[in-house]
Amino acid sequence: MKILVIGSGGREHALVWKLAQSPHATQIWCAPGNAGIAQERLASNGAAVECVNIGAEELPRLAALAGEKQIDLTVVGPDNPLALGIVDLFQRQGRRIWGVNQKAAQFESSKVFSQKFMEKYGIPTAAAGTFAEVAAAKRFCATLGGKCVVKADGLALGKGVLICGSQAEAERAVDEIMVSRAFGAAGTRVVVQEFLEGMEVSLHALCDGVTAKIFPTSQDHKRVLDGDLGLNTGGMGTYSPTPFLTAAQLDEAAHRILDPFMRGCQAEGIDYRGLLYPGIMLTKSGPKVLEFNARFGDPETQVYLTRLENDLVELLEASAVGTLGPIDLSWSDSASVCVVMASGGYPGSYPKGKVISGLEAAGALPKTKVFHAGTALKGGQIVTNGGRVLGVTALGGDLPAALAAAYAAVETIHFDGAQFRRDIGAKATGA
Ligand code: AMP
Repeated sequence: MKILVIGSGGREHALVWKLAQSPHATQIWCAPGNAGIAQERLASNGAAVECVNIGAEELPRLAALAGEKQIDLTVVGPDNPLALGIVDLFQRQGRRIWGVNQKAAQFESSKVFSQKFMEKYGIPTAAAGTFAEVAAAKRFCATLGGKCVVKADGLALGKGVLICGSQAEAERAVDEIMVSRAFGAAGTRVVVQEFLEGMEVSLHALCDGVTAKIFPTSQDHKRVLDGDLGLNTGGMGTYSPTPFLTAAQLDEAAHRILDPFMRGCQAEGIDYRGLLYPGIMLTKSGPKVLEFNARFGDPETQVYLTRLENDLVELLEASAVGTLGPIDLSWSDSASVCVVMASGGYPGSYPKGKVISGLEAAGALPKTKVFHAGTALKGGQIVTNGGRVLGVTALGGDLPAALAAAYAAVETIHFDGAQFRRDIGAKATGA
């Protein structure tokens, strides 16, 4: 089977790595890919994965590539091409593609849409209101005593969420989003949610339009500095499983969130085939959904796919064609940890082109996989080419063993200015 993967980050490297292990895969392309993806080889025939220099949002060029190479299955990593309708485009051209269609992508591209859907179908979420008017939004913030979270409706590079502790702060947040338009058109409308206290975890479920299969839990670390300090990032590290939900509690959460989600999608004529990634707060009154993402998390994918025992080609095909029902997801009992190594300065401005050393030694360590994110090949050397550079991932018999293995690998890798968090998994180990 000829496969095309779209995207260039750590998530896409993990997808390519796992797809390349399938006996079904005979050729894999990745657009645009990165230096690590270009080093992958297929288990079935030893062929190299080929990176093609087409951006993830260049839909017509991607469709032309799929036609030219006679791709059997296209796998979409990032949210933007999904929101732009890449799945609809490929389907119109009769090409099988995995990922949500444009209508389903609204769960991520519009927080107002998601909030209204959750309320309509009884999905546990924060008390909230959705507003197109500044004064009404501010009045609602006041009913929450100003302790609230103000969210721009649209995609805002993960920055359109402002946490407020007082009415004055809340009013400033509403003005920033709706009046100053700090996030552009994404701020035409806002969602205001009550501030929820608790432990935050990531859920993932693979969906085929009817069935949703829940993954084990994982936890991301969004802030750049240890102790959850500093600026928000795309994610500085993950581990799976977390100890915060028992198997029975995870089943219950799946039942309370995914059942009404799938029922609601059917009622609204939304054919949800792809990945659903709800961000969850574990509150005193149970798990509540903060937001929906409509694709795999990054760096959640790195810990999930290193634990997944199923053939990923078979799973994604089943998700795309609607035959997930009888398939059981199977996970290694091992814990998995991903530590993100980022460029100095990230998430602010950062230099590129720093030579990365120690990758081979790290990759040779047992049960360790170094996923590349922002890397490029320059003059025969692998250099930094983005904010998040590597996702150093390791399995272990338990979480402390996986942490020790991941950090041992991190210590062997060097590039100028490298920064990483030293407290990944600390909420679980109590360290
Ligand atoms: P979102 O993009 O909606 O997930 O929000 C980004 C981050 O803001 C989340 O990962 C949470 O840490 C935080 N957050 C969002 N909504 C709430 C809420 N209602 N209460 C507390 N924290 C929140």
